[in-house]
Amino acid sequence: MSVFSHPAYDNHEEVAFYHDAKSGLKAIIAVHNTNLGPSLGGCRMWPYADDNEALNDVLRLSRGMTYKSAMAGLKLGGGKSVIIGDPRKEKTPELLRAMGDFLNTLGGRYITAEDSGTSVADMKIIGERTEFVSGMTAGQEHGGDPSPSTAYGVFVGLKAAVAHRWGRTDLNGLKVSIQGVGNVGFRLAKLLKEAGAELFVTDIFQDNVDRAVNELGATAVTADEIFDLDVDLFAPCALGAILNDNTIERLKVGAIAGAANNQLAEERHAAVLREKGILYAPDYVINAGGIIDVYYQQLGEYNPEQVKAHIENIGTTMQEIFQRADETGETTAHVADRIAEERFGHQDTLNDADSAAA
Ligand code: NAD
Repeated sequence: MSVFSHPAYDNHEEVAFYHDAKSGLKAIIAVHNTNLGPSLGGCRMWPYADDNEALNDVLRLSRGMTYKSAMAGLKLGGGKSVIIGDPRKEKTPELLRAMGDFLNTLGGRYITAEDSGTSVADMKIIGERTEFVSGMTAGQEHGGDPSPSTAYGVFVGLKAAVAHRWGRTDLNGLKVSIQGVGNVGFRLAKLLKEAGAELFVTDIFQDNVDRAVNELGATAVTADEIFDLDVDLFAPCALGAILNDNTIERLKVGAIAGAANNQLAEERHAAVLREKGILYAPDYVINAGGIIDVYYQQLGEYNPEQVKAHIENIGTTMQEIFQRADETGETTAHVADRIAEERFGHQDTLNDADSAAA
């Protein structure tokens, strides 16, 4: 396993490995860049096939957080952590406390929060050992869960995409397909329904599909059909890499705006979308509502109105990206990367082939 020569290394400031034999914790923390402030990013627990898969994930996600926070105008750098293990079988309070000890070794250069496989309750246990943890603000309506803010940010960014693509400010009758109606996707669906959109949903969990059908009147489609629908806009809210050679040619939509991280299988797919006339809302820009929320939680100054106003800036940022892309002929993903790099002071010759989303 190489670290410094790893394809996703991209000048990380720090990569730390930790093993606690007593609890079985095996974890990696990656700090990509702290030019704008301490790095903040979620702690993912996943049964990685091997160490290299875990390293690859944490490096890609960590770099993406630098771009996401810079773009969201936060005084934060980019970092991420991964715990190697199955969250349903191997997560114990001892293991989470050991993760707290690991966080302390970085002295605040990295602050953690929820991610796939970790919850608000887990953050509270980690917080028994360290102050470098966020996403667990007591007393808030959402109890620290960033998903509602992520969904609201996606909604705002989606409206900017609709305004740019079709020159309209309302969503009445707009046909939207949503892949994944989980924490973020369902909340987004609700906001869209309230705004008058017609919904088509898929999910691998039938319960989640049923909830969207019964509560929101959505039309259920299969996991495969979602790519073939004759709808206006596609909102990926499940997996990464779903915009690829196989799926893009099937899409009939005019715009893509969703919460999922790393939607483009490869950076070149942004150009393929552009050639097809599909407006793409860069994922790490549109899904920044969650990190904005966590940022204010971490500051200890959580004012819901202030958080909402900050999230609404996603709409303005998105408009700027779309306009600059039109003016320069670049892809929206490329424009977003350039703006983020200007903001965090990227010094190096950039590796354009590497996607920045996380
Ligand atoms: P979640 O696990 O609650 O929801 C994801 C849903 O997608 C689940 O219901 C799952 O069953 C479904 N799904 C998985 N594979 C699928 C497939 N092949 N086809 C259809 N459905 C499928 O996760 P979430 O918190 O809602 O996050 C959704 C996406 O948004 C993820 O990519 C996540 O990384 C990203 N994201 C989330 C947040 C946040 O605040 N939760 C912030 C930024 C980005």
